[in-house]
Amino acid sequence: MSWDTPLADRVLNLKPSPTLAVDAKAKALKAQGVDIVNLSAGEPDFDTPDHIKDAAIKAIREGFTKYTPVGGIAELKDAIINKMSSQYGLDYEPEQVLVSTGGKQGLYNVIQAIVNPGDEVIVPVPYWVSYPAIIELAGGVPVFLPSEAGNNFAIDLDELTRLVNHKTKMMILNSPSNPTGAVYDTDILKGVAALAVEKGFYVITDDIYDEIRFDGKSPENPASVLPEAKEHVIVANGVSKTYAMTGWRIGYLAGPSPVIKAATKIQSQSTSNANSIAQKAAAAALSGPRDCIETMVKAFKERRDYIVERLNGMEGVSCPMPQGAFYVFPDMSSLIGTKAGGKDIESSLDLADYLLEEAKIACVPGIAFGDDRFIRFSYATDKAVIEEGMNRLEDALKNLEK
Ligand SMILES: *Cc1c(COP(=O)(O)O)cnc(C)c1O
Repeated sequence: MSWDTPLADRVLNLKPSPTLAVDAKAKALKAQGVDIVNLSAGEPDFDTPDHIKDAAIKAIREGFTKYTPVGGIAELKDAIINKMSSQYGLDYEPEQVLVSTGGKQGLYNVIQAIVNPGDEVIVPVPYWVSYPAIIELAGGVPVFLPSEAGNNFAIDLDELTRLVNHKTKMMILNSPSNPTGAVYDTDILKGVAALAVEKGFYVITDDIYDEIRFDGKSPENPASVLPEAKEHVIVANGVSKTYAMTGWRIGYLAGPSPVIKAATKIQSQSTSNANSIAQKAAAAALSGPRDCIETMVKAFKERRDYIVERLNGMEGVSCPMPQGAFYVFPDMSSLIGTKAGGKDIESSLDLADYLLEEAKIACVPGIAFGDDRFIRFSYATDKAVIEEGMNRLEDALKNLEK
């Protein structure tokens, strides 16, 4: 008897994360001895600060190695509540906070908790790679809202209003943004928040890069700029990016009690609590000194200034100035339609493949984020690596035939 190993419909159309795939390909080539300049990383290149590691070591030594409450330990929830209050002026009770295994699991849980099959979720483009997949896994329908680099990837509120209908359940915002580094103006956040109240939908605000911003302003989200919208807003955040803790897997949600309760229930039947030791480390991170963040942000800013200048000095490349995160997202559409060694460059994927094969630069094609005109380069790596990457890029682009 033959067995065709049937799988669930929900995975048949599911694509693995393209950013993790590029990173894996770059690391594999590197392991084979190929001299790759990796500008695809989605994580800080800094080490987790020592005081955070020490808290984890102490937790292990003290035997803090058992199940914790599903939603997270009180000490960490308090640290999260303090952050939300001191930085955003938003007050939450412990039952309005859920600690998850990374920001991504928080997003997954809350979307499972809110979205019914057929519900529409508005997603601004360019988007973080996992939003459409997580929405579709819940049976939801992502509805894309395009934006333009020339306008700093701002949300067009009229366009947004046109997309809202009786099926609209939710919208996702990400500011500072991965991949663009753009930060939404207060007016946009207010406009979205007001529309959510008027039309009755939720807004998830993915604030994972909230402390990696270069304008010196304190972070904002739709709930902080329009307090009456708070019951519509779910904050998704985590320690991965701010404290260089991607491997520790701690993220969190803050939002209305019924939503957080529902997301907690889903977590209770899937992963249970996030890692107990990592929770102690995250509590130390959130309540500890802030100079580690300042050091990182200062380094990111210097690298940003350098890479933007280099990119804008190349023919056919137009790079907006990011306000946060650690990515640049240049428009390279004028190079699509060229040829390289007789091969047609017909998409951002072709261009990224060409750069990997010929220039040995790993980067992520814009199509992974929903816009084929762009390429994402991460500058979460040494200045010398960025410089070498830009030299190679400049040479590689000169070899493209019109
Ligand atoms: C990195 C990232 C996350 C979550 O990361 P975790 O490692 O799961 O904490 C969420 N949203 C965006 C936009 C990200 O770039």
